[in-house]
Amino acid sequence: MIYKKVKQYAQNNGFTAEDKSGLVYGQMNGFFFSIHQDPATPAKHTVYLWVKEGSMTAVPAITDFLNQCTGKHQYLQSASYSGTRITAEFQGLGFKWGKNYVPCLDAFLRDITSYCSSNQLVPCCQSCGSSAGLNLYQIDDTEHMLCSSCYAGASDNIQRQAAEKSKKGSGNIVGGIVGALLGSVLGVIVWVLIYQLGYISAIAGLVMIICALKGYEMLGGHLSKTGIIISCIISFIMVIVAEQLSVGIEIYNVYKEYYEITFFDAFRSVPSFLEEPEIRTAVIGDLVIGYILMVVGAWGTIRQAYKNSSGKVSARMVTSVTSAGYADNNK
Ligand SMILES: [Zn+2]
Repeated sequence: MIYKKVKQYAQNNGFTAEDKSGLVYGQMNGFFFSIHQDPATPAKHTVYLWVKEGSMTAVPAITDFLNQCTGKHQYLQSASYSGTRITAEFQGLGFKWGKNYVPCLDAFLRDITSYCSSNQLVPCCQSCGSSAGLNLYQIDDTEHMLCSSCYAGASDNIQRQAAEKSKKGSGNIVGGIVGALLGSVLGVIVWVLIYQLGYISAIAGLVMIICALKGYEMLGGHLSKTGIIISCIISFIMVIVAEQLSVGIEIYNVYKEYYEITFFDAFRSVPSFLEEPEIRTAVIGDLVIGYILMVVGAWGTIRQAYKNSSGKVSARMVTSVTSAGYADNNK
């Protein structure tokens, strides 16, 4: 999962690469760092270093130095210092980003670690600044270097927040249903319009499910598992409504010139038109593509919403930094 050139770079330099969590960590010039790949793209990485001033006062200078770095390193988009942690965001842009991305990452790591080294910065806990007993933790997909007592506090806090979040339960279901209905109506309108233009109206299935989920979230407070199921059922039905409306309008437009029919007559006559194999095939085709696109459109949102509503936060110790010798400045 880690971008192969970054992985290769890690292997060549004796860093640890955890493919599954998209994480690389190691030590350069005596300073521990981590590189986290964005789960959505292999062209985006966040670099962290946990340092504070030693005997020399260097804090304002760190920010200046980081500003110089963003000007100097092509793919370094931003860099900041919190007092205990340096955060550097890398993103490869353009078609040829892969060519110089890793050398750029490497150059930055060399610069920043030798800066830390020559300014006698010391590794520290992100939360309390202590330099003893440091471990790298991954909490909710973000790296934190903490001492064990800060980790105990942080993990309690995080679990409590997660529990509160899931206690919100289903939110306001009635509001959510109204929101999902309004959202899906938007999808129906788009479906009918595309159908009138003669394109594949099923594309609107994607719009419909996204609008229904968003609608539920906006009026229901938050998107719970119940909300997801309700939004999916509503969208499922509304696709049929949208298709029937589209066909009904078509029938009306063709027949109104010969007969005195209202749109509602046309709408009601759709089922009898479906006995015609040719029309039936076309309608079923529209529906199937519509549903497939709904699944595609909803997949990411549903997965994220499920993760959020589960109330669990993953927290684990990645490695011990102090006792593994990572924070050994003499190396
Ligand atoms: Zn601490």
